Amino acid sequence: MNAITAESILEELDHQYPCNQDEMNFLKFRNPFELLIMTILSAQTTDVTINGLRDELFSAYPDASSLARADPLDVERIIHSAGFYHSKTKNIIGAAKMLEENFGGVVPKTIEELTTLPGVGRKTANIVTNHGFHDACGIAVDTHVRRLSQKIGFTQHTDPDKIETDLMTLFSKKWWSKINFLLISHGRAVCTAKKPDCMKCIIRHNCQSYICRGEE
Ligand code: SF4
Repeated sequence: MNAITAESILEELDHQYPCNQDEMNFLKFRNPFELLIMTILSAQTTDVTINGLRDELFSAYPDASSLARADPLDVERIIHSAGFYHSKTKNIIGAAKMLEENFGGVVPKTIEELTTLPGVGRKTANIVTNHGFHDACGIAVDTHVRRLSQKIGFTQHTDPDKIETDLMTLFSKKWWSKINFLLISHGRAVCTAKKPDCMKCIIRHNCQSYICRGEE
């Protein structure tokens, strides 16, 4: 797919799912520390679940210092509903300790530094730089972004890092902070994993999956 067509698809989705910068993350965080911890916890579960445990978690552990010294059993009880609570507890306490030891208790602003923290890969690091610091250094590739990018024809790859590279090549930087929100919104509303509603899809005329099925 060429860049002009690809950008026209995002423009249509942008029209369909309007939002401002503060609405582009589905996690209701109040500072970069909360965003980092909530994003680590959000793996394999819903944003609604993580938003629901936010207040109890951060009233007990409002910063890296308090979380680094937390009793793992107390943290496990609070985040139990997030699933994988044992490994997630280990990761967020480990991340808090590393923030204390290596970054003065402050969430770092670069992908390279963020990905040194336990439980933090490129996807999480991209979310933190983009939404925590309004600096889109890359594109967060989650399950929605991966699935829709393949269906629409933005990429042929399955590996998230390669998909991210394809998207960064295809789109100008002005889209990097928004593409994740637009594809997640479309993936939830129309192009669901179970049953994409192609007849209601505003971008079907350019969607490779739809066109290849010979429906247009
Ligand atoms: S046309 Fe169908 S497969 Fe393509 S993006 Fe729309 S809903 Fe998804």
